[in-house]
Amino acid sequence: MASETAVLAIAGLVGLVVGSFLNVCIVRLPNNESLVRPRSKCPKCGAPIAWYDNVPLLSWLLLLGKCRHCKARISVQYPLIEGAVGVLWVAAFAYYGLTWAALTGATFSTLLLGIAMTDARHYLIPDEYTLGGLAIGLLLSLQRGFSGLLDAGVGAAVGFLLLYAVAWAGEKVFGQEAMGGGDIKMMAMVGSFVGWKGVLLTVFGGAALGTLIFIPLSFGKKRLVPFGVFLALAAGAVFVVGGAIVQWYMNFLRAA
Ligand SMILES: [Zn+2]
Repeated sequence: MASETAVLAIAGLVGLVVGSFLNVCIVRLPNNESLVRPRSKCPKCGAPIAWYDNVPLLSWLLLLGKCRHCKARISVQYPLIEGAVGVLWVAAFAYYGLTWAALTGATFSTLLLGIAMTDARHYLIPDEYTLGGLAIGLLLSLQRGFSGLLDAGVGAAVGFLLLYAVAWAGEKVFGQEAMGGGDIKMMAMVGSFVGWKGVLLTVFGGAALGTLIFIPLSFGKKRLVPFGVFLALAAGAVFVVGGAIVQWYMNFLRAA
């Protein structure tokens, strides 16, 4: 019991630190800026941010969301992302225990959050999340041996080819780019985490969510659809309950 609490506490702390790094990724990757240089500074007065003003969650609260030097507002996005990633990491280790599945789920959900935030704001999905995430997905699959790697590899290939086909067909039918290369690479990454059945479920779920949520919101206005947001939501759900859905469907087919 005590050790379980310790695992969750450590998972939460690691999550906060990872969330702090994800903030840097969310701000810098869309502008093709380096993640390590220069050090963070206040966008208003340019004062470098000291380590003690950069402690996840705590610093923002202690500074009441203002720069120590010029009192300019610091976006609430920073503590929200840090807190969200902390919660995701605690949830993953609470649900899966101290296992590879927990680390995989925590990593996957962090990548999905970065993708969703960036796609919602900039309509783009940086390669660092997708190609970088694909490499991490393949690496993590190795703990299930060769069959794990095979699942991940086939999942990635199906994700890539399926979205490539959808994008190609969409362009033929509508005469304009319906889906970006970022979505295609994203689904290769997702496939490496959830396998080929999970990819099919994710695309189905993402399309359903996009239709239900976005189309009513954007009715009459010509707006880009940040499809990656809906794919990310669906992929996260599929990671947790996808296996059960596939099992239910198999039983359903057998009973029919
Ligand atoms: Zn400042």
